[in-house]
Amino acid sequence: MNDPITRQMYQSCRLCPRMCGIDRSRGTGFCGCSDTLRAARAALHQWEEPCLSGAEGQPGGSGTVFFSGCTLRCLFCQNYRISSENFGKELTPDQLASVFLDLQSQGAHNLNLVTATQYLPDILEALDQVKDRLHIPVVYNCGGYECLETVKALAPYVDIWLPDFKYFDNRLAAKYSKAPDYFETAAAAIGQMIAQTGPPVYDSPLPSSAPRPHNAPASKTSGAAAPLMKKGVIIRHMVLPSHRRDSIALLRWIREHYPHGHYLISLMSQYTPFFHSKDYPELNRRITTYEYNQVVDEAIALGLTDGFMQEKSSAKEEYTPPFDLQGL
Ligand code: SF4
Repeated sequence: MNDPITRQMYQSCRLCPRMCGIDRSRGTGFCGCSDTLRAARAALHQWEEPCLSGAEGQPGGSGTVFFSGCTLRCLFCQNYRISSENFGKELTPDQLASVFLDLQSQGAHNLNLVTATQYLPDILEALDQVKDRLHIPVVYNCGGYECLETVKALAPYVDIWLPDFKYFDNRLAAKYSKAPDYFETAAAAIGQMIAQTGPPVYDSPLPSSAPRPHNAPASKTSGAAAPLMKKGVIIRHMVLPSHRRDSIALLRWIREHYPHGHYLISLMSQYTPFFHSKDYPELNRRITTYEYNQVVDEAIALGLTDGFMQEKSSAKEEYTPPFDLQGL
């Protein structure tokens, strides 16, 4: 039995692997967050994977709530305005509970908690309030850098895990995310997520096992209705410019160590130089078609065909949602 996540944890915060131990009523740790929850947007989102957002032209979308602050703060973050600059509006757990129900009433296919770890005590309080009225799956959309104990404590709350698996080489993790223990931490956390959910479950049969086009632009998924995920793990990996070999090494490790067929892979091509990436020459460009195709070809060669790939045209700044406090 795991210890529950309570507000007391803000007094000596160890919610994430940074283990700052700080009293968040008096100061902030690496994530830059106090003990008052902040969020920047709550809206239906069409550009997640089709099994979360649904096909274009269908009503609904993924009911995303973007929380302010971040435990990783990658220097290339496309959401840096909220992750590193902490833009957002303060909310009580009661207000957040209303936001959740509002998204459901708008037709959200799921409740998608984006970068939530630093506020888990408040978020779980809000989920407890609505648990008898919320009939859609809860998605945990995170950077993969999670404590094993936190993942275990979230088992009763989370139906679908949507972690990034960003790096194989910890030198990259140290340089770009100040997380020199990223690989082993994310590997263990994602392994636990897979163990908790088992193989993916959908609301209807999948059309085929070939890799399917990803979310953005959503028009690429128009046509037949997309089966919606009810339970499972989708491992996201964004290919970085100059680092396709790290992506390939990561895919090989995943194939070797996680039970085949118990997770989906989502390969993302949408990298765009944002934030501090302009100070790193190797990151200061979009990825090439050659780089992305090399990674996709490796995934196919490994048999990692359950999942999604993005169109190269996804690498556009307009796919970053506007952080305008909508829905809060
Ligand atoms: S949630 Fe924030 S304060 Fe708490 S351990 Fe992580 S980075 Fe530090």
